[in-house]
Amino acid sequence: MTVDEDQTARPAAASPELEGRLGFGAVFTRHVVAARYADGGWSGATLQPFEAISLSPASMVLHYGQAIFEGLKAFRAADGSALIFRAADCARRFRRSAARMGMPELPEDVFVEAVRAVVAEDVDQVPSAPGCSLYVRPVMFAAEPSLAVRASTEYVFLVVASPVDSFFAAGRTMIDVFAMRELIRAARGGTGDVKCAGNYAAAMVAKSAAVAQGYDEVLWLDAVEHRYVEEFGAMNCFAVTGRPDDGTATLVTPPLAGTILPGHTRATVLTLAARRGIPVVERPLALDELTDPDGSVTEVFAAGTAAGIAPVRTVGGSEGVLRKLGDEPGPVTAALAADYAAVVRGAAPAEDGWLIR
Ligand code: PMP
Repeated sequence: MTVDEDQTARPAAASPELEGRLGFGAVFTRHVVAARYADGGWSGATLQPFEAISLSPASMVLHYGQAIFEGLKAFRAADGSALIFRAADCARRFRRSAARMGMPELPEDVFVEAVRAVVAEDVDQVPSAPGCSLYVRPVMFAAEPSLAVRASTEYVFLVVASPVDSFFAAGRTMIDVFAMRELIRAARGGTGDVKCAGNYAAAMVAKSAAVAQGYDEVLWLDAVEHRYVEEFGAMNCFAVTGRPDDGTATLVTPPLAGTILPGHTRATVLTLAARRGIPVVERPLALDELTDPDGSVTEVFAAGTAAGIAPVRTVGGSEGVLRKLGDEPGPVTAALAADYAAVVRGAAPAEDGWLIR
């Protein structure tokens, strides 16, 4: 089988009958947007069929890994229109990622228009069932054919889209997470706060180990003391201390101190909590706080575009289960998850710039 056959075999138009068994990132829409960077400038972005692309075997991305990406979603609103969530924020983060990786910054309006064009062209592919959406994946990689160890002078920008349902194994509504103490994801001065492909490449072995032990996701800890919670493999981490029924509930999340990804779902959750009058504290969060059954942490959840808001059921580690939080989402997690689901589908007010129809 050639590479071309393998790649062209994958795109499949999602149909309403497929909803509920789409999985995550397994089927693709019919079109992509592509642009090239060479001679110091970007070509115009064009809409093209989803098909295999040809690359030189010497393309620098294959050797030195200069590659960045983004992830955002289009949702089906009750009135039938499609809504793209936080595209401008992704465009900004994409520029920051590019700068950190020595890559050219794509103008934010080009990014947003490319995302809009992909969604608009195949808008019939935006699923409508609850929990389903169209995941949009912009990516940029080094395309110059060269083995010189320096930044590439040529790049390709692509936007592909994939109708999705659950990020985790089908039917999973709560997740079990594995606190990783042996390996680290990011250190100060590294690339943890940008969305470069290498961050994910270096994390695969931890994810595989966690899954092999029955967990859904890795919980990364700080690189220095292996003591403070950083984030999940593809989501930011939130804990709830106290309880809403006695007015003591507070939302706690690690601060953006350079090693974790500034998630747009994280930012959205902070806004939604403030709307509900739930106090929010951004501070270092020790793993011991999460795992202490007599401590103040009553709920833990993950927040990211791909997974949405995923309540944590169990926190484990190499020595086994460290804490069982419960088989049902806690009240604060459930309330914020409902608010989030409403906002992205246009059923609750969005802040300026959050939604493109
Ligand atoms: N952390 C990591 C490592 C991620 O890959 C993601 C997904 N982009 C997130 C957090 C959540 O970011 P967002 O809410 O913008 O999807």
